Amino acid sequence: MRLANLSGRAVLVAGDAEALDVHKASDGRFGPELRGIYDNWTDFVGWAGQAGLDGAEPFDVADLGAPSPEPRQIFAIGLNYSAHAAESGFEAPTDLPPVFPKFQSSLSGPVTEVVLPAGGNTDWEVELVAVIGREVTRVAEADAWDVVAGLTVGNDISERVVQLRGPAPQFGLGKSFPGFSPTGPWLVTTDELDDRDNLTLTCTLDDEVVQDGRTSELIMSVPRLIAELTKVVTLYPGDLIFTGTPAGVGVGREPQLFVAAGQTLVSSIEGIGELRQTFVPEETP
Ligand code: ZN
Repeated sequence: MRLANLSGRAVLVAGDAEALDVHKASDGRFGPELRGIYDNWTDFVGWAGQAGLDGAEPFDVADLGAPSPEPRQIFAIGLNYSAHAAESGFEAPTDLPPVFPKFQSSLSGPVTEVVLPAGGNTDWEVELVAVIGREVTRVAEADAWDVVAGLTVGNDISERVVQLRGPAPQFGLGKSFPGFSPTGPWLVTTDELDDRDNLTLTCTLDDEVVQDGRTSELIMSVPRLIAELTKVVTLYPGDLIFTGTPAGVGVGREPQLFVAAGQTLVSSIEGIGELRQTFVPEETP
C-alpha cells in the first residue's frame, strides 16, 4: 500500500499518478487528515487491504505534503554508514550512533523550493525514513519491524556552518531550517518491497550523482535502531526516524561542495520514489 498526503488529505496511491481519497472511500471512517490514520494504523491497514482503488483520480506530485505531517518526534541518526563516518572524520560507531532531533517546522512534502540560508554551507543527506505505526517502548529487535507503518524517502538537508559552530555541534538547529526535512513522495508499506533491508538510495545534484548507497550497508539496521531508541524513549504513531546517510555528502569532499542557488537535488530510493528540491537564495531585506 502507498499512502500519501494530497493537499492535507490522506489518499491511497494507484499507479504513479492516481489517488483515492481515504475519507470518501471509507465513508468517513478514516481521514481526511493523516495523523489520525497513524493513531489507528492496524484498523486502517485492515480497511485499506480490502479497499479497491476504483475511483482513483489523477493528481500532481507537486501537491503532495509530508506523508506524516505532524509527527510528535523526528529522530535522525548520524554516522550510520561506515564510508560516511570515514568521510566525516570519525571511526564507524560500534555502539549506538549519534541521535539528534530534526524539528517539525523543517518538515515538507516531496517537491519543494528551499531557501538557502545566507552565509551558510547547505549540504545533502539522502536517507531512508521509517514511519512509526504504533506507540511502543522497549521493543525487541526481532519485533521492531512490526511497529513500522512504512518507509519513505527523506533528505536530512544540513547547513554545516550552524551545525558545526560553537563549543558543541548544533545538529538539531543546523538541520532544521524551513524545508530542510523533505519526505515522501508517499509512505510505502514494507510488503510492497522486494527486500526491505536492502534498498538502493541515490542523490543527484543537478545531473551529477553525489550519493549512491544501499540500506544493507546501515551499521545499525531499522529494527536495531528502534530497539535501541525504545530503551530510552517512547515512539508514537507517525514519528519519523531518519536512519542516516551514505557517503558522498558535500562537507566530506575534497574540495568541499555545497548547494548553490538554482540547483536541484533529487533523492530517490528503490521501490519507494523520489524527492525533488530546488534551491533559491535568501532574500536580503
Ligand atoms: Zn543525516
